[in-house]
Amino acid sequence: MSAIEYKLYENVFIETNLQSVDYDAVILILYPEDIQVPLPRHIQSFIDKIAKVDKHIHKTTTVWNCDYVSGERLVLSPTGKISPYHDARVVREAAYKGMVRAMDAGAKKPLLVVQNVVNFPDGQLVCILGALEALYIPLQTRERDNTKNISWIGLHSEEKLSEQFEKTVRNALALEKSRILARDIAGSDPERMTPVNIVNYVKSSFSGDSNIFIKVIDDSNTINEEYPLLAAVNRAASQIDRHKARVVEIEYRPSDPSRVTQTLLLVGKGVTYDTGGADLKISGKMAGMCRDKSGAAAVAGFLKACSLLKPPHLKVIGVLCLCRNSIGEDSYVPDELLVSKSGKTVRVTNTDAEGRFAMADSLFKMGELAVKELNPHLYTIATLTGHARLCYGNYTAALDNHSARSTNHSSALQFSGSRVGEGFEVSVIRPEDLTVNNGKGKGEDLIQVDMDAKARHHQLAGGFLIKVGGLEDKNVKYTHLDIAGGAGSPPSEPTAVPILTLCHVHKVLM
Ligand SMILES: [Zn+2]
Repeated sequence: MSAIEYKLYENVFIETNLQSVDYDAVILILYPEDIQVPLPRHIQSFIDKIAKVDKHIHKTTTVWNCDYVSGERLVLSPTGKISPYHDARVVREAAYKGMVRAMDAGAKKPLLVVQNVVNFPDGQLVCILGALEALYIPLQTRERDNTKNISWIGLHSEEKLSEQFEKTVRNALALEKSRILARDIAGSDPERMTPVNIVNYVKSSFSGDSNIFIKVIDDSNTINEEYPLLAAVNRAASQIDRHKARVVEIEYRPSDPSRVTQTLLLVGKGVTYDTGGADLKISGKMAGMCRDKSGAAAVAGFLKACSLLKPPHLKVIGVLCLCRNSIGEDSYVPDELLVSKSGKTVRVTNTDAEGRFAMADSLFKMGELAVKELNPHLYTIATLTGHARLCYGNYTAALDNHSARSTNHSSALQFSGSRVGEGFEVSVIRPEDLTVNNGKGKGEDLIQVDMDAKARHHQLAGGFLIKVGGLEDKNVKYTHLDIAGGAGSPPSEPTAVPILTLCHVHKVLM
């Protein structure tokens, strides 16, 4: 099955004339008065006039008949009050709402005013991304009916056709294409995105890029031997051909290897469906679990950004750990004693803690590989624990190992996230988060999860990954990202976090 491409490049234009006849509406983000954002004189006086009619224009999105803009239709999308606690997300939200409102009003050719706001250095990028996000149509909808929700959009900037603005637009389009790839994988149902279908989708998405190398491990014997913990999770599902596990390695190598200064190795959890397994999710807790592949989706999306933006200084290896946590006669069950690729015996204690198993052996392999690479940084990205969501809501929890902590990498991620409109929270792995994973019975090196633990579930999951990945004593920078809260759950579309932040912090943008 070939994925239906979502074309962006040929229907996005840079426009300098707010009255161009090519557009049927103008979307303007309305900033509070204390943040000085200069507007064209006519429009400013128009807004001053209508503000006397309706003070609410600074609170809700409104549509006005205005002679000074394309289509004589002005969509005003206010940010609301901006305090020193706010970050670029206010821009993203206003742009998103403005685009949604313009489409609701019937606009097919909206023109978005992309303002330069001192408070938000990456605000123009975030503004464009917020508007593009509103245009996303889920893959399965596109496959049934490829009617576009708009004909084209224009992006208006005061900087006119400056080189910098063109660059920003190009960055935004590349990022959005990457996020579409991630949203397609994460958001599609568990049959549309089975492991094998994800492989096909990924292959078709990257085809023709000479900087991208894809390796698919699909042989059952190899999976059983090389990825024993992933294989255990997938045991019930492996009876069904289309649900057989796959490990996909996507590598980005820039054209000139001598310019590479860092190697990123990213492992993503790609559980195409999580029933919980023998420890079944009950009482309606299972719905939405097709999103348990969001980590792998984000890894693929990040590679897509590299493929499009071609950062010369990075080598990137992404691993998608694709499996399905089914329930059935061959399900793995608690009490089983497994041996990880790192040589640790691991006692199964709750089959619903499958994410750490799905990634464990790939993480170990990447850790082994990392020490041979230049300036490596290792990541796991996963919708791993409900606890992360309980702690931080829709923020991504970033946890550094000892080595990554020496450079405060999580804080750098949090800073980048605030610049591009993705929320991050720095979380710390304490010594007890490592030891709590130690086996309790004879012959057990580790337990899958301590069922008696009353707190710190997302931190101890990080501790488990460090231990099972053989990273405890290795001096390799490693950051675990728990996106359980940030990834977005139905009925919301997947957020594709943390693609923007990773691109920002690792300078993938042009
Ligand atoms: Zn689970």
